[in-house]
Amino acid sequence: MTSVIVQAAAALRNAKCAVAVTGAGISAESGIPTFRGEGGIWEKYSPDEFASIAAYLRDPNKVWQFWRELAGLVKGCRPNAGHVALADLERMGVLRGVITQNVDNLHQAAGSTRVIEYHGNARRLVCLGCHKRKNIDTNNMGDRAPRCPICADLMKPDVVMFGEDIPRHAMFEAHALAEKCDVMIVVGTSAQVYPAAELPFIAKSNGAFIIESNTERTEFSEVVTDAYLEGPAGETLPQLLRALAQR
Ligand code: NAD
Repeated sequence: MTSVIVQAAAALRNAKCAVAVTGAGISAESGIPTFRGEGGIWEKYSPDEFASIAAYLRDPNKVWQFWRELAGLVKGCRPNAGHVALADLERMGVLRGVITQNVDNLHQAAGSTRVIEYHGNARRLVCLGCHKRKNIDTNNMGDRAPRCPICADLMKPDVVMFGEDIPRHAMFEAHALAEKCDVMIVVGTSAQVYPAAELPFIAKSNGAFIIESNTERTEFSEVVTDAYLEGPAGETLPQLLRALAQR
């Protein structure tokens, strides 16, 4: 066991309020490609073209093809050992919550109950007219962008597209936790998407110990990280759990 894992486990053992912030990297081992990684859906559909609200409003039926494909991809994916380790940390009473930028529902599927969906959830739809939400029927998504069953207005995936604001309740809860926590575990995020990327900086400026799990170094690694766990989260997070169990 490396000394950095032992150091991270010691910080968690003494924590009064530990939280995790996760990004696309934690789901990479479940088969969902990251934005900036190689391969998969993002090479076929540029995020700029298919993940912005302006593009959706301009041509909803075209952009819907992308979301339909993403929902199909996510449906076939299962949580990996990284998601499970975070759910275990919550069950053990160590972790107060997971703030996730992901829209894939895999933390909930792994058993995490306190999940703040900072960028929404691709398994739901929201109506642009009356704001009704409903779950997507992934077996019957259709070729055309869906219409609301109540008011017939256009519905969109209940995710934060480029050009949209973070849901107020998620922003409020996430920022409050970032200010309050004494340990933050930052997993698989590139530190490039704001305002989510502010959270580790907020935590650090309030004195939190920052544990980072990533396969590559990021701006966090250079500026705020206290314990950098290099490697896939599906390996490093279970190692962290094992170190925590050893007294
Ligand atoms: P990103 O694609 O910008 O960065 C991913 C980060 O994960 C990189 O730093 C990379 O080095 C790291 N990484 C890759 N594999 C890893 C692994 N196995 N273990 C640990 N780290 C690993 O992702 P982001 O910072 O989350 O920002 C992209 C935005 O797009 C976010 O809003 C994100 O949630 C969204 N997105 C979501 C999904 C999803 O829901 N699964 C997938 C792609 C993008």
